[in-house]
Amino acid sequence: MDVLVMGAGVGGLAVARTLLAAGHQVRVYERALAPRTGGAAVTIFSNGTAVLSDLGVSLDGIGGRIDRLDAMTSGGRLRASMNIADAADRYGFETRATPRRLLLERLVEGLPGDLVRYGMNCRSVRQDGDRVTAAFEDGSTVGGDLLIGADGHHSVVRRHLWGEGAVRAATYGTWQGLSPIDIDITHSHRSLMITGREGACGLMPAGGGMLQWWFDVRWSPTDPRPERPLAELRRRFGHWASPVPEVLAAATEDELEFFGHHWTKVRPVWGKGRITLVGDAAHIMPPTMAQGANQTLEDAWVLGRELTGKGGDPALRLRAYERARYPRMSFVSRMAKHNPANWRIPPLIGRLFPENTQSSILLRYSNRLTAANPH
Ligand SMILES: Cc1cc2nc3c(=O)[nH]c(=O)nc-3n(C[C@H](O)[C@H](O)[C@H](O)COP(=O)(O)OP(=O)(O)OC[C@H]3O[C@@H](n4cnc5c(N)ncnc54)[C@H](O)[C@@H]3O)c2cc1C
Repeated sequence: MDVLVMGAGVGGLAVARTLLAAGHQVRVYERALAPRTGGAAVTIFSNGTAVLSDLGVSLDGIGGRIDRLDAMTSGGRLRASMNIADAADRYGFETRATPRRLLLERLVEGLPGDLVRYGMNCRSVRQDGDRVTAAFEDGSTVGGDLLIGADGHHSVVRRHLWGEGAVRAATYGTWQGLSPIDIDITHSHRSLMITGREGACGLMPAGGGMLQWWFDVRWSPTDPRPERPLAELRRRFGHWASPVPEVLAAATEDELEFFGHHWTKVRPVWGKGRITLVGDAAHIMPPTMAQGANQTLEDAWVLGRELTGKGGDPALRLRAYERARYPRMSFVSRMAKHNPANWRIPPLIGRLFPENTQSSILLRYSNRLTAANPH
């Protein structure tokens, strides 16, 4: 089939890889003029690295391996400790914090050079019988057999399918950066999630001497942006236990990016006819479970299986994909909505959690790790 993909983020590129491997023709249309270089780093858990491996994408040599995640109080006490390496032992795929730029580079590696057409801002889509059409800002149109909306948070394809108003602002916003900050965590395989009255701070080794750091603060879309955000973060979090003050001292204003968190209720049916959605377009959620990109990869993996060698009505294959993803996705999304990573779990209770809780939770999130026959 001739497949049109809107968006060349994690989802669009992963879908392109899997559908090309299945023998389809694929064209990807991206609004940006060039590949994205920002977006700091993302954590790819065992479910995501398993999908990447199936797509022929290796994270070897990039990012930082994460073996343990410690939740701390702002005063430096341990709230809870998660053994992340346990999932790698059980499922055979490790967890890596990976700069988004490098992840996108690996996803596009080996694909045809003209696969992604940059500077193509999709303005509308439609379907007539068995044909789908996308129209772009420059007045051009393209037609195909299937259309996949991988166009993220503000998806035009989702608006076509669901109408306006499906996405709501959530409670927090994140200030984040990826910087060469020379503290112990940067050179370790340990990630820290620190929570206190003022908000939350996350620190993660992202490989190559880089530290992924972020601060979650209560946020609403009507809040004015602080004039000097870094000074505001220092004022708010500067008194927290080490290493937070060291991170804030080393960070610079030009490394800061802000993302307000958003959430959409996951629907049992995402698409219509020969159009469907993957990734944030279908299920944007707060990043506190660090599963957004992982779930996007799971989408691509399931979609690829539905469109590989099964034949029949392609619209039915798309609905089968949505049905397979719905229970997993809706569970992750409801968890993420409650921002568990930002909870202030008392250390006495935190110690009651089994260290390998993450491994069993991953199974509830994942189509890939629970497939009877993944290949
Ligand atoms: C602060 C923060 C931290 C996060 N941390 C993690 C993490 O640790 N782990 C994790 O798994 N996930 C994380 N996520 C979530 C993750 O980044 C997203 O879930 C993931 O990038 C979704 O991929 P996507 O391809 O659906 O969307 P995107 O990556 O947003 O890609 C969409 C693409 O579509 C393009 N596009 C948009 N509109 C159009 C149009 N009209 N026409 C053509 N192209 C268009 C965009 O330019 C973009 O390239 C985080 C998110 C945030 C905000």
